[in-house]
Amino acid sequence: MSIQENIKLIKSNLPSSVKLVAVSKTKPNEDIMAAYDIGQRIFGENKVQDLTKKYEELPKDIEWHFIGHLQSNKVKYIAPFISMLHAVDSLKLLKTISKEAVKNNRTIDYMLQLHIAQEDTKFGLSEQALYELLNSEQFQAIKNVNLRGLMAMATNTSNELQIKKEFGLIKQIFDKVKETYFKDKEDFNELSIGMSSDYQLAVEQGSTMVRIGSTIFGLRNY
Ligand SMILES: *Cc1c(COP(=O)(O)O)cnc(C)c1O
Repeated sequence: MSIQENIKLIKSNLPSSVKLVAVSKTKPNEDIMAAYDIGQRIFGENKVQDLTKKYEELPKDIEWHFIGHLQSNKVKYIAPFISMLHAVDSLKLLKTISKEAVKNNRTIDYMLQLHIAQEDTKFGLSEQALYELLNSEQFQAIKNVNLRGLMAMATNTSNELQIKKEFGLIKQIFDKVKETYFKDKEDFNELSIGMSSDYQLAVEQGSTMVRIGSTIFGLRNY
């Protein structure tokens, strides 16, 4: 199937309230334009260098989302134009984002990455670390950044029950954070969960944003 057919099929499976982030990492501009031509506007990338190149070459009404781990020293390259940072996981990174946002005279939307999967990755905050961050005075004083919600990944497993449990837990934590800290903040409303292999389970558990790459663009060659 073509990129355009893939997108149409995915969209027909998604509630209209769930946003589709087309994960175009490693894919050429032609592939992105095929998706763009049928109305896709949100694209996800995870390498700063690739993203800045694509930003320069492609239409300016694309909303670029950075979905990977972001190094503090690279924030400055994407701060002028990035629409959403999905995976912020430290106060240090957030301070850098804030500084660059101020320099660019804008506010940058972001999500905090929660780590609950069983894989040993060093990225993402534990539930405990998430509350510590939200409670800290430094966090509360930070400027020109706007927290829109939480992002997470389930364990990479074929065990659907486990994935479902993990997404359910993430949703519970999201609801608790919303209730405790952001009850009156209407735009704290995004839950970025779900990829090619598990997005239907994520949507059932309350995802508002799915990040889908290979099911749209085909397998990646690194
Ligand atoms: C690559 C990537 C995706 C998309 O993965 P697919 O399995 O190709 O859909 C989603 N989220 C993150 C954080 C990624 O790095």
